[in-house]
Amino acid sequence: MATSMIGRIALITGGGGDIGRTVAVHLAAAGAQVIISDLESAKDGLDLTTEVCQQANPDAQVHQFPFDVTDTQRVISSINTISSVIGTPDAIFNNAGYQGQFAPISDCDPQDFKRVMDINVVGVFNLVQQCSRELIRAGIGGSIVNTASMAGVGGGPNMAAYSASKSAVIGLTKVAAKDLAPAGIRVNAVSPGFIGTGAMWDRQVKLQAETPSQYYADDIETVEQQMLTQIPMRRGGTLDEVATAVLFLLSDASSYMTGSNLELAGGAS
Ligand code: NAD
Repeated sequence: MATSMIGRIALITGGGGDIGRTVAVHLAAAGAQVIISDLESAKDGLDLTTEVCQQANPDAQVHQFPFDVTDTQRVISSINTISSVIGTPDAIFNNAGYQGQFAPISDCDPQDFKRVMDINVVGVFNLVQQCSRELIRAGIGGSIVNTASMAGVGGGPNMAAYSASKSAVIGLTKVAAKDLAPAGIRVNAVSPGFIGTGAMWDRQVKLQAETPSQYYADDIETVEQQMLTQIPMRRGGTLDEVATAVLFLLSDASSYMTGSNLELAGGAS
């Protein structure tokens, strides 16, 4: 099966969150050795991910390796250690992310803007750079998937930093795909749209309701409906639908794809 991950070493950032956890389960079920990373403060989330991976595949090898993706030196030392102790990750899911504040651009906090860019863009850059260096050193190819967002494709109202950061992830993905193709390393992105259930969906609906705009009402139930009516398929995506697409891109099933951005949005743009 081209989607088998037997013999592959997967690294997932944001592995204590909703999408990271679901992707970890799919990778473990497909036979990969799975390294999950997140902030030290996300220990409970990482423990839950370990538990559900082992339920999905009792033989799964799941390692926790927390670090902050914005800390370049920690990323370098962590990827070095992972590569020498466990093996060089050859299926990397750069998924850690932060939505930032919700506000019209005239009211955005510049410090929050920088924080969002640091986590969502510099974090992805750090991982792509360090993981690709290790793959090149090991003389093996691999596949990298970066999590962008439909906010980076169409621009989400009240989400200037987040939308800009996710557009940057798409641009970074396209450049990395070109630069790393000679080394046999494929780099693609996924852009989820409205994905529910999950912490990010709940936070987004609540904060859009609290932020005055012409686009959304001020109560959560109406905002949910307003979001769903933007989707031609008239429903949000599921975490499993995101994970299936990520597994496809990480596996050899997508062996001729690099530099693409898969939109997982039920037809929304
Ligand atoms: P989530 O909040 O459940 O998970 C995000 C994870 O990233 C958290 O566990 C968090 O601790 C971790 N993280 C944040 N800052 C970090 C840092 N500096 N270093 C390491 N880890 C850090 O959200 P999710 O829904 O699982 O989102 C995962 C990714 O998908 C994000 O990049 C997000 O922007 C993107 N996304 C989500 C949706 C959605 O609707 N859920 C839609 C589009 C894109």
